[in-house]
Amino acid sequence: MTTSIGVMKESEPGEHRVAVVPAVVPRLRELGCDVLVENDAGTGAFLPDSAYTEVGAAPVGEAELLERADVLVCVRPPDAGRVERMRQGQVLVGLLEASADPGRVPALTRRGVDAVSLDLLPRTLSRAQSMDALTSQASIAGYKAALVAADAYGRYFPMLMTAAGTAKPAQVLVLGVGVAGLSAIGTAKRLGAQVTGYDIRPETRDEVHSMGARFLDLAGVTVADGEGGYARALSDAEREAQQEALQQRIGEFDVVITTALVPGRKPPLLVTQDALKGMRPGSVVVDIAAGPHGGNVEGSQPERSVLIADGVRLIGAGNLPSAMAPGASAAYARNITALLAHLIRDGVPRIDLTDEILAATVVSHAGQARQGGGAR
Ligand code: NAD
Repeated sequence: MTTSIGVMKESEPGEHRVAVVPAVVPRLRELGCDVLVENDAGTGAFLPDSAYTEVGAAPVGEAELLERADVLVCVRPPDAGRVERMRQGQVLVGLLEASADPGRVPALTRRGVDAVSLDLLPRTLSRAQSMDALTSQASIAGYKAALVAADAYGRYFPMLMTAAGTAKPAQVLVLGVGVAGLSAIGTAKRLGAQVTGYDIRPETRDEVHSMGARFLDLAGVTVADGEGGYARALSDAEREAQQEALQQRIGEFDVVITTALVPGRKPPLLVTQDALKGMRPGSVVVDIAAGPHGGNVEGSQPERSVLIADGVRLIGAGNLPSAMAPGASAAYARNITALLAHLIRDGVPRIDLTDEILAATVVSHAGQARQGGGAR
């Protein structure tokens, strides 16, 4: 029996990405699999059904996909209604973000679905790097955030000498220097801005310098290295000290891009309303971390742009990878193909929990919920 991989149409509103693009279909077929694609799954990324048909994938309706696919692939978690129609023994692979909704894994387990959550991938494991969808998508988010900021900023990013005089370069501050932050720094630099980065993990100082940017020294703020290369959450006193120190310095910058996250916690609040009021009129703040539980900037909301009293534009970024759906889908599809090549042996998906990658990413197997996680 040939294994069928089923590419789901994303169910989350505003999600334009697709988990598999036509370019990777030949590789999936080489693994000994058939590829089924839900009708219109790629439309949001400008990939019509015909582009899939041309490479040997078969567009099908939702009911047929859920019935026939042995391995379902998605970007964001499928909605509850779809999970209820999955069948026992089916494998689901995607950014399932188990911790964001405590009901999600139990629902999959009840259906007997084997679920592989790519956000739990051990990221420092070199053989898992080609599967690292968090990195590919965060990198796109950082790039796009710099473009969103440049677009909203009413002056040039680069220094320009023209017959009409000299334009000073924009001063850009990037708060949080993980994957997205480094990508935002690189993009703002390529646009010609003078860029400064800041993070509480000490090793980021060298990373910022290696990008040709400055590091922001905040007096009196502790460094906070957590586990596995991630930051730890700050205590209330540390957080207040950080907010105050940032407030002293933030008025030096025209553009601020915030990307700070701590795994499993709500995003740390770095920039208060008082700090925003200390910025010059015309300044722009883009908060990538803005989400339903708040962001790095007080008052930011996803997909919402507001003008603070003194003319500072605060943009809550929302789903930036979806705003670059063709590029983000292409990168994600390569990540998922690498994971499927690892999972599918001799044409059959094998959940081997002695394998480091699967031990970390499998959150539901044979009717049992699993913690997953492992060393991130
Ligand atoms: P993330 O999205 O969890 O967080 C973004 C950044 O926010 C981090 O750099 C974090 O230190 C910072 N942050 C958190 N709280 C902060 C605060 N209060 N003030 C300032 N900054 C704060 O991080 P990420 O981008 O997913 O990266 C996490 C780690 O994983 C990094 O060490 C990264 O280098 C590492 N990583 C390694 C690999 C690899 O080895 N292949 C791949 C991807 C990521």
